[in-house]
Amino acid sequence: MRAMKRLALVLAVVAGLGAAAAAAETASVISVAKSDFAAARLCRKGLDLLMEKNGRVYIVASPGEMAALAALRVDYTIETDRFLPSGPPALAAGGGINGAYHSTLELETDLRALERDHPGLASLQEIGETLEKRKIYALKISDNASSDEGEPAVLFIGCHHAREWISVEVPFLFGKYLLENYDLSPEVRDLVDASEIWIVPIANPDGLEYSIHVYRYWRKNRRANVDGTYGVDINRNYGYAWGFDDVGSSPHPGSDVFRGTGPFSEPETAAVRALFLGHDFRAMISFHSFAQDILYPWGFTTETAPTDAALGAIAGTMAGLIAAVQGTAYVSGQASRALYVTNGDATDWTYSLAGAPSYTIELPPVDIDHGGFFNDESAIGAIFGENLPAMLYLTRYAIDHPLPARRRVPIRKDRAASPVAQRGKLRD
Ligand SMILES: [Zn+2]
Repeated sequence: MRAMKRLALVLAVVAGLGAAAAAAETASVISVAKSDFAAARLCRKGLDLLMEKNGRVYIVASPGEMAALAALRVDYTIETDRFLPSGPPALAAGGGINGAYHSTLELETDLRALERDHPGLASLQEIGETLEKRKIYALKISDNASSDEGEPAVLFIGCHHAREWISVEVPFLFGKYLLENYDLSPEVRDLVDASEIWIVPIANPDGLEYSIHVYRYWRKNRRANVDGTYGVDINRNYGYAWGFDDVGSSPHPGSDVFRGTGPFSEPETAAVRALFLGHDFRAMISFHSFAQDILYPWGFTTETAPTDAALGAIAGTMAGLIAAVQGTAYVSGQASRALYVTNGDATDWTYSLAGAPSYTIELPPVDIDHGGFFNDESAIGAIFGENLPAMLYLTRYAIDHPLPARRRVPIRKDRAASPVAQRGKLRD
């Protein structure tokens, strides 16, 4: 009977997740001991992990979820609820409801201005369209940007996750910096002339708009799922080791790490896939927040990647370059060991093709106590500034390091196998 009761409670909680957004104004950030985390997962498959630190796992939880945790005798600590807006944010210097941060429309305007002001160096391209009919933009920066010269390509992409607003600004400002300094800096000119630098500031426009206007903590896209819930975590929807297990992503549509119904089922990931396969990409950074980490493959397994030493060396160099700017410490490491296991994320997939050095950079702050997903507008410039040398370095690295032909690196290629078959394959 007790077991049945517990199961019923679990099902009720899972079924109730669709209402989580409506109760957003009362959500809190809680932590549980890592040793209790397995029990916590009983309450909510694919709990919304924020980070792990000092043996505790931090989670966004609604009152209903906290009640379910209590019923399961999981001890949790309410860390904070002070970062939740109680109403629309005040208008700020940058204009718009989200202040100095870009909305999708503001970004489109600014990208068009960059293209207009830097003819020949910048080409704005639409790489996809979302479920709500928004365009996904890529800004290509190169000499003769409008023609395909087959030069080494590097990708800087932001905002897979809607609430991680700072991740829009860093790649956007990098593009702006390159264009505005082309005539001033020999270093910038050399890089731009020798490569194609692709900037995709907003991979998830629908989610970002929802985060701005409805629910600040929204993470996923806005896919209407079959069970009435919304959203696929597009950083669990890429095609390498997709659905490898239910720890690194979730099969439950209401989960914040729902992987979708199949690899590349979402227009956002399909757009990135087409872009990446269409050029000679040799490196990429996917920006996220928060934690101050530089993470590299694999994410889906704690086994090391074939080029683990090189991945680690590049990450270490980038961490050193970042620290040299104003002393901010970013910790580098393999994603599955440094953060938590993920599957179907962007960097595992881009790396799987030909071993392109692929990084998830978790931007500041370092933890919840320093603001979580909320960086003050006045910090945007400094966060970009400390990442700039690392971005320049990775671009130079890509130019200097051709990859073997795709699929020559001895790793398993992108495929859409069933999770079970894939799991069997990958265990051998
Ligand atoms: Zn993220």
